[in-house]
Amino acid sequence: MTTEDCALCAGSEMDDALMRTEVWSDSLWRLTTAEYTEVAGFSYLEPRRHIADITELDGEEAATLGSTIAATSKAIKDSTGAELVYVYVYGNGIDHLHIHLAPWREVGSPLVDEMIKGNRHIARLPSGAEVLVSDRYPLVDHEISLAAIDDIRTRLNSSG
Ligand SMILES: [Zn+2]
Repeated sequence: MTTEDCALCAGSEMDDALMRTEVWSDSLWRLTTAEYTEVAGFSYLEPRRHIADITELDGEEAATLGSTIAATSKAIKDSTGAELVYVYVYGNGIDHLHIHLAPWREVGSPLVDEMIKGNRHIARLPSGAEVLVSDRYPLVDHEISLAAIDDIRTRLNSSG
C-alpha cells in the first residue's frame, strides 16, 4: 500500500466516509472519534505520516506516542466518565497505524478484555496453578513458549 491509496493518509478528507470526527490534532498525530459506535467516545489515534504498523513506529512519532496516548485517553476518560480507557492496536484492517482508544466501565460496557476467541475453561498446569484456556485454541507446548521468551529477550538485550 502506498500513501496515495491509504485511507488514513488522506486525513480529514476521509473522516466523513469513515464516520468519524476529528477532535484534536497536532503536527504529528490526529485523534478522531466515532460517530456511530456501541461506546460513545470510542476514538482513533493515528500518525499523520504513513507508518504501516506498530513495528515500524520510529522518529518523532515514536518519541511522542506515550505523552500523546496519555493526554488523549485522559480527555476521553474525563469526558465519558469511563473507569478505564482500553488501548487496542490490531493492524490487519487498515495498513496505517491506528490506535483504538476505548472508554470502558465495569457495568454495561460491551467491551471485553479477552484476547482469545471463543469459550474458555479452567485448566490445571503441572505446577498446580489454574489458568483460563480457550476451548478451541489449546495452550502451545510449554517448550515453544519458553523458546519465544528466550528469543525475544535475546533480540532486545543483544548489543548490535
Ligand atoms: Zn497511510
